[in-house]
Amino acid sequence: MSFHEFNFTDNVMYVKGVGPRRAAALEKLNILTKYDLLTHYPRTYENHTSLTQIADIIEGETVLLVGRISNITSRETSRGLTIINAILVDASGYIQLTWFNQEYLLTKLYNGTRVLIIGKAKSDPWSPTGISVNQIQSCTVLEPNEEPELGIMPVYPSTAAISQSVFRTAVKNLLSSMPTLKEILPQEIVDAQRLISLDEAMRAVHFPKDFFELDLARRRLAFDELFLIQCGLMLIKRQTQDERLGITHRKNGALVKAARAKLPFELTGDQKKVFRTVTKDMESKLPMRRLVQGDVGSGKTVVAMLALVKTVEGGYQGAFMAPTEILANQHYEKFSALLTDLGIRVGLLSAKVTRTKKLRDELYKKISAHELDIVIGTHALIQEGVNFAKLGLVVTDEQHRFGVSQRSTLEKKSDAMPDMLVMTATPIPRTMTLTVYGDLDVSLIKELPPGRKPIKTESKHKRSRKKVYEFVRTEILAGRQAYVVCPLIEHSESERLADVESAEEIFDMLSKGIFHDIPCALLHGRMKPRDKDDIMEKFRDGETKLLVSTTVIEVGVDVPNASVMVVEHAERFGLAQLHQLRGRVGRGAAKSYCILISDSKADIAKARLEILETTSDGFKLAEEDLKLRGPGQFFGEAQHGLPDLKIADVFRDVEILIQARDAAERFITDDENLNYFAALRKNLALAYGDKFNQITEA
Ligand code: ADP
Ligand code: MG
Repeated sequence: MSFHEFNFTDNVMYVKGVGPRRAAALEKLNILTKYDLLTHYPRTYENHTSLTQIADIIEGETVLLVGRISNITSRETSRGLTIINAILVDASGYIQLTWFNQEYLLTKLYNGTRVLIIGKAKSDPWSPTGISVNQIQSCTVLEPNEEPELGIMPVYPSTAAISQSVFRTAVKNLLSSMPTLKEILPQEIVDAQRLISLDEAMRAVHFPKDFFELDLARRRLAFDELFLIQCGLMLIKRQTQDERLGITHRKNGALVKAARAKLPFELTGDQKKVFRTVTKDMESKLPMRRLVQGDVGSGKTVVAMLALVKTVEGGYQGAFMAPTEILANQHYEKFSALLTDLGIRVGLLSAKVTRTKKLRDELYKKISAHELDIVIGTHALIQEGVNFAKLGLVVTDEQHRFGVSQRSTLEKKSDAMPDMLVMTATPIPRTMTLTVYGDLDVSLIKELPPGRKPIKTESKHKRSRKKVYEFVRTEILAGRQAYVVCPLIEHSESERLADVESAEEIFDMLSKGIFHDIPCALLHGRMKPRDKDDIMEKFRDGETKLLVSTTVIEVGVDVPNASVMVVEHAERFGLAQLHQLRGRVGRGAAKSYCILISDSKADIAKARLEILETTSDGFKLAEEDLKLRGPGQFFGEAQHGLPDLKIADVFRDVEILIQARDAAERFITDDENLNYFAALRKNLALAYGDKFNQITEA
């Protein structure tokens, strides 16, 4: 059950046709080892299965030609460009070939050389026939009796430094030096799933005989990938459930009841249901691993708070990890306002505290001496030095910001396995949930608290900007507050975005223009935490009326009096992100508005924004977004902490995913397979490095 003998962890430079120089270029593509090269799957394929007769060439077509070279000439243009022309002749006719800046060909091509050419035919006034093949992708010299190699050619994701033909040759050499790959799956699974062998699949995915074989290869490899990840996630789950027992929390008593009674509202049906489930999880002796998904404003925080009170009631401590400093502060204020009267000691581990050694040490001491019951903080909570005396529950808010490995770091902070509750406001389609959160049980809060009015959303062209801000002004004069969100902080960030106004510019324009007599503020992620806090506080207190910001306000900030959200350059945001932003308004009694300004001429961008006008279902939007942008962008690169899928696709391969998950579940829970686990871990380490280190280290 492993790739071995042939050493996959060898540096890729030892593959014939690579060498040190190309290895350096491959490194930019994250290809360091032979294994990386082998699993650098083609992005697409070119169908080079049939030759074109020169007489049949149609302008605009990509053609595959075999013929003899004649009339080679080269000349230099006034701008220093070298142009090589030649005539290619076959039995049906002749055509001109044109290359730019490829002088080396002059030492390779002579009159009479037989070549295989792949290129695109374009009209060309300089050519005797009016057409020339001038986008030449490859030109291969054929031996006198050599038959040209035809077939389906892989096209690899690459950079300018590595041509497709170098890639193809390197992969071909790697494949021919590679012994037959052993199966990594138990044969029963291969048979039951009707998969082709790993060896066949790995070779065919690079150089398939035909598209049918390519399909089988892809299916096999996508299955392996999803199976391996599922096994990894289930091993994590199994490990947390097997190795150490969790905490059996005490039944809900007077404290939980008192906290519930202090809430200024009745829980919604979904909140009650989820809290019941969480209660049951916590009272069981297995560690809770639960993900609560709920749209923005659905009231997840309250459920988390009650769970934290529950852990305190049983004599344990609770930790609450928020994705940003602002949110940590906000939760801290809300929690202490409600819970301090009940005798619950709430602490905040903020950047402010961690900056000074004295404050930090004091707080750490209180945490380890159990002088605090609930500690709220950002990722600072998982840093070295924070040791809980008796950690019973860890709540992670807005999970997609934390990776799997960060989750587990916090868990390691205590002897007994604390319960874990993860909350995400980014509703994730079920298929995605299975891949990213496969180690968690999932609950949904779909129902919104009563009395929420729908937010009127409108997409506007930039030329209506003036009108938009006049409207914002009316709202502010009526006593409300407004957000303006911009994609960039300042201009120098990227020259390519020169036509995108920065938050600073927009702030200047507004605060000196139409809002000159209204208190405005600018907020962005590069400010000092202290300044951010100040600005946020003033806005929350209603002192500041208009807040221009970058997406630092994206998650969770709660200012009920804010009724307008304007998004500048809305086309630059994802749908799910815009939906999150929109969730910042509509939290109070006033009718709320979300205005999306863009000047994008692209129809797709417009259509995308229009989806928001009609849909307020976060799940639907997330699904659209994922389809439009793919998982990488959806989660933000490297933010979700799980390996990017190399070959499987969460939309196209839903069925494979479900089969892989079922198979993984049976595989992992069958103790007969225990002897496979070491190999499984090895493969996880090989394929995903430290992404699964909590189980591969074992
Ligand atoms: P989420 O974290 O899911 O985005 P929050 O927990 O921040 O949502 O809740 C959003 C707002 O709704 C908060 O102001 C909260 O006090 C309020 N809220 C939560 N639950 C209820 C409820 N059952 N009834 C009325 N208001 C509620
Ligand atoms: Mg929240």
